[in-house]
Amino acid sequence: MNVAELRADFPALQQKVHGRPLVYLDNAATTHKPKVVLDALDKFYREDNSNVHRGVHTLSQRATESYEGARAKIAQFLGAEANEIVFVRGATEGINLVANAFLRPQLHKGDEVLITAMEHHANIVPWQLACEATGAKLRVAPMSQTGELLLDELETLLTPRTKLLALTHVSNALGTVNPIAQITEMAHARGIPVLVDGAQAVQHLSVNVCELGVDFYALSGHKLYGPTGIGVLWGRSAHLEGMAPWQGGGDMIRSVTFEKTEFAPPPLRFEAGTPNIAGAIGLGAAVEYLAGIGLDAIVAHERELLTAATDAVAAIEGVRLIGTADAKASVLSFVVEGVHPHDIGTVLDRYGVAVRTGHHCAQPVMAFYGVPATVRASFGLYNYHAEIVPLCKALREAQELFA
Ligand code: PLP
Repeated sequence: MNVAELRADFPALQQKVHGRPLVYLDNAATTHKPKVVLDALDKFYREDNSNVHRGVHTLSQRATESYEGARAKIAQFLGAEANEIVFVRGATEGINLVANAFLRPQLHKGDEVLITAMEHHANIVPWQLACEATGAKLRVAPMSQTGELLLDELETLLTPRTKLLALTHVSNALGTVNPIAQITEMAHARGIPVLVDGAQAVQHLSVNVCELGVDFYALSGHKLYGPTGIGVLWGRSAHLEGMAPWQGGGDMIRSVTFEKTEFAPPPLRFEAGTPNIAGAIGLGAAVEYLAGIGLDAIVAHERELLTAATDAVAAIEGVRLIGTADAKASVLSFVVEGVHPHDIGTVLDRYGVAVRTGHHCAQPVMAFYGVPATVRASFGLYNYHAEIVPLCKALREAQELFA
């Protein structure tokens, strides 16, 4: 994999910030977009712009073909069937869809929903809302100080009361990669369905939803080098077929009278209204781009980079790493003694280095480690070793300024 060549595919990376080359290490928040994605969006609006599924005219047919073609590309990327791919706004909406259309109708007082201690708010709040509305209880599987799930304890929390296990594939705050196939086997042995939040996984690991064996898998396009406002919920056909719609409107029906509506089969049943057509097409272009590079090459490159960056940052005096699991992807989270993460972020920005500082929408994780916030550098396929130098240099300067 030739990173220098690949970087040329990303126009946003070519700019300077405060007079220095941009070092973009905020990929867990969102990734930059390659030209093929920008071109796909541009082509759609310039040439094919039309609504899908409804028109017999040429443009509408072209738009429908591209939209459904994108669904097929994403299905292939995930090792799934196209009719199991539901287009949503992002991982958040995918999780809310499952909470409302799958879980809520079967959730009663005394039931339990199991999540883990390392979830993003998007994989906490929808379950909390479902529990509050039904009298069910939210249970939390614990993790160790290294940021690894305690599997024995997780297993004891899988009981006849558990109606769903929802957990992240990769933690956005710690970088931990969870052993999803193993955990899913434990849940399925007790008849418990599993939803996986894949927002931080699909861009860093080769994901095949069938091999993982899970029931639902949610992801966000903008973290996968695609546009914002588009994401995917993958669900097993058997589940999707059995689920009532969450939102009603056009495009999700077979027939409507004032007395009764017959719903369309999945996935359209869950895509009420005009979808984000351009977004879906852009995401299709993104996964095609990634498949062209090869996920295995991306995984190997990012692993090497994360190891080198972790060693370099950990060698700086006063740095405490947050999240030191054996299996990690992309994320290097840390605090620096005596300096607030936001001050570090501000100094890094002056060096053109973009990192995220804050609680990363994972406040329970911050509470677990007893910190209000961390500095998070997160790597993507276009980052390279030379970028570790300005990161460390700026960190040392921040220390001198504020310590
Ligand atoms: N889950 C994880 C692990 C995330 O990191 C994020 C976003 O940062 C989300 C869910 C929510 O993604 P979105 O805001 O794109 O819906």
